[in-house]
Amino acid sequence: MRAWVIRATGSLDQVQLADVSEPAVPLGPREVRVAIRAAALNHLDLFVVRGLPHGHTFPHILGADGAGVVAAVGTEVRSVRLGDRVMLNPGISDYTCEYCRAGEHSLCVNYRMLGEHLPGTLCESVIVPEQNVAIIPTVTPPLNWAEAAAFSLVTLTAWRMVVTRAQLRAGETVLIWGIGGGVSLTALRIAKLRGARVIVTSSSDAKLETARRLGADVTLNHRTQQVAQEVRILTNKRGADVVVENVGAATWQQSLRSLGRGGRLVTCGATTGPDVGIDLRRLFWYHWSILGSTMGNDAEYREVVGLLASGELRPIVDRVFPLEEARAAFERLDKGEQLGKIVVQVRD
Ligand SMILES: [Zn+2]
Repeated sequence: MRAWVIRATGSLDQVQLADVSEPAVPLGPREVRVAIRAAALNHLDLFVVRGLPHGHTFPHILGADGAGVVAAVGTEVRSVRLGDRVMLNPGISDYTCEYCRAGEHSLCVNYRMLGEHLPGTLCESVIVPEQNVAIIPTVTPPLNWAEAAAFSLVTLTAWRMVVTRAQLRAGETVLIWGIGGGVSLTALRIAKLRGARVIVTSSSDAKLETARRLGADVTLNHRTQQVAQEVRILTNKRGADVVVENVGAATWQQSLRSLGRGGRLVTCGATTGPDVGIDLRRLFWYHWSILGSTMGNDAEYREVVGLLASGELRPIVDRVFPLEEARAAFERLDKGEQLGKIVVQVRD
């Protein structure tokens, strides 16, 4: 089958379209084979290309997010049938460790991501556990393959960050960095569903304009404005209740300076670098909470799929590239030109 792979880690020059063997059959009793129709890109894919230390076997198939048609099922699979249109939850857990038994699947000691620890979705066929597929909900107008592929990773991530971890409440003020990215954009929409006042940043005025249309109450250009100072002014010196971070080193100090008393900073990424500082005196004096978050558990996934079914959180697709042009899709992601999800159409 055709697949976008890397044969070594390095630059985007390593990303190539190749002919690789299909995943092995027979399926495990609770496994499902999905014929992929579309795959969405995430920053995770860039990190994998540049070389996370996970001992890849090469060629390694990229891509975490995907949607397609159920093409085969194991003997004990009950939740989906041949021909069902499904989306994939890219986080795969073992369902046996103490965290899984407690329902916290993204804390699994054997947690693995499609496209990172396992072969990914930028190909024609993927095998996943039954628990990792969800039937694409029927909404009006119907979700296309690109939208379905774009849904899972960012929506699950943003939901756990904003709702489960930061516990954002109606009337609170939240600051969200870098509104072009999929997690940030979804966090904005979830925060509005929760009834919060949302301040977003971007270096692009065009993206800020779109964010306003999507419900952002205040937009700040972080290239031309002092974000923490502006947040203080906008909140009568009080500061934000919640800050949603995935930028890391470049924004961390501004994030802390934006945080009010009892504030919660929740982070799921370190795009500009992982090493940051914190003044412990400010941490305890202001009762701050610094919260890490990655992906989400099965209950949270069912919750966001349910919201999608009720017409909320429909994915915003930036651009769809044909399979042959996925390299250009990676380049667009790398340059941060997108607003919403970049998708690769694997098959029509
Ligand atoms: Zn586990």
